[in-house]
Amino acid sequence: MAPRDPILGITEAYNADKNPKKANLGVGVYYDDNGKLPLLECVRKAEAQLMEKTGPRGYLPIDGLAAYDKAVQDLVFGADSAVIKEKRAITAQAIGGTGALKLGADFLKRFSPDAQVWISDPSWENHRALFESAGFKVNSYPYYDAASKGVNFAGMLDTLKTIPAGSVVLLHACCHNPTGADLTDDQWTQIIEVVTTRGLVPFLDMAYQGFGDGIESDGKVVRRFADAGGPVFISNSFSKSFSLYGERVGALSIVATSADEAARVLSQLKRVIRTNYSNPPIHGGQVVATVLATPELRALWEEELAAMRVRIREMRQAFVEKLKAKAPGHNFDFVIAQRGMFSYSGLTKPQVDRLREEYSIYAVDTGRICVAALNSGNIDYVVDAVAKVL
Ligand code: PMP
Repeated sequence: MAPRDPILGITEAYNADKNPKKANLGVGVYYDDNGKLPLLECVRKAEAQLMEKTGPRGYLPIDGLAAYDKAVQDLVFGADSAVIKEKRAITAQAIGGTGALKLGADFLKRFSPDAQVWISDPSWENHRALFESAGFKVNSYPYYDAASKGVNFAGMLDTLKTIPAGSVVLLHACCHNPTGADLTDDQWTQIIEVVTTRGLVPFLDMAYQGFGDGIESDGKVVRRFADAGGPVFISNSFSKSFSLYGERVGALSIVATSADEAARVLSQLKRVIRTNYSNPPIHGGQVVATVLATPELRALWEEELAAMRVRIREMRQAFVEKLKAKAPGHNFDFVIAQRGMFSYSGLTKPQVDRLREEYSIYAVDTGRICVAALNSGNIDYVVDAVAKVL
């Protein structure tokens, strides 16, 4: 038997728990204030439009729906981006963010078989396994500093300064999973400088665009890397930002150094896709393309995404303030500064165990909690329990 997936295992245990006050903070999913997975109104409206003109289901092109790929490019690079105008960026629809990462990994393995991959310590738990399964040796660079509850930037930069040219460096574009600790603009400047001058290959994973500070500002890092010349790999996902987890909508974009190189890259990427799953499914891509290309729906999406972002921020604030009252000896202010759905809370494994066993509150053993699973109905119960285990 293969070991159980650590995070999906938490949800299984949570589902079996009979305590009516139970809370699942182990998930990587945004829930609304009623604790429900939202169906965005922009998605519902786009689907209603699509149903009106529903048609036959031929195969999509290998790289997906053209309107989707174009919409993703504009979103990720900005519609007025030089790399788009110069035709240096290519984008292929992918099966979620995970699928995009795997396409990028398979592509890189084919053309850079001796390179090694570097991921942050810690990182999304699937990064290592995914690149290893593509045949890479996966190393990690220092990232989280438990003492300061922030980024060990000096450690990160020092490591990037020593790894061989051609190494693939996986970076979280925003809303670092699992820590919630992001780099500042100035720190990104230094990372871009080192990556570019040392000939490293940046692979930006952007699974949470819009959950940090906004669509534009979360995407800024991608644009800055693109402006620095390329090559750059970008995987993005609409699982969270459109609440379309099960439709598996994401994309892989690659910035090449010339239009000619970009055309060759796309042709080779299509071979990777063809031998993986041939071509992507239609529905999710159509929904996202419709929303992004229809001004009213796009405005609605931006509103709904902003509401999710604001709610998470409010939960961060409430968690910290309430905890200050219940556990005055402890400082959780860092939770407010963190970005995205997650927080490395600093809770230890024994504390996480007690939360589960005594209070039916489920978190990841590392202390990662999903702030987006907190709501006005469960936050007092969660804060009380956390204060008790502290
Ligand atoms: N990268 C990161 C950092 C993630 O957190 C996730 C989703 N949890 C993914 C990629 C994968 O996204 P998707 O669910 O769209 O495959």
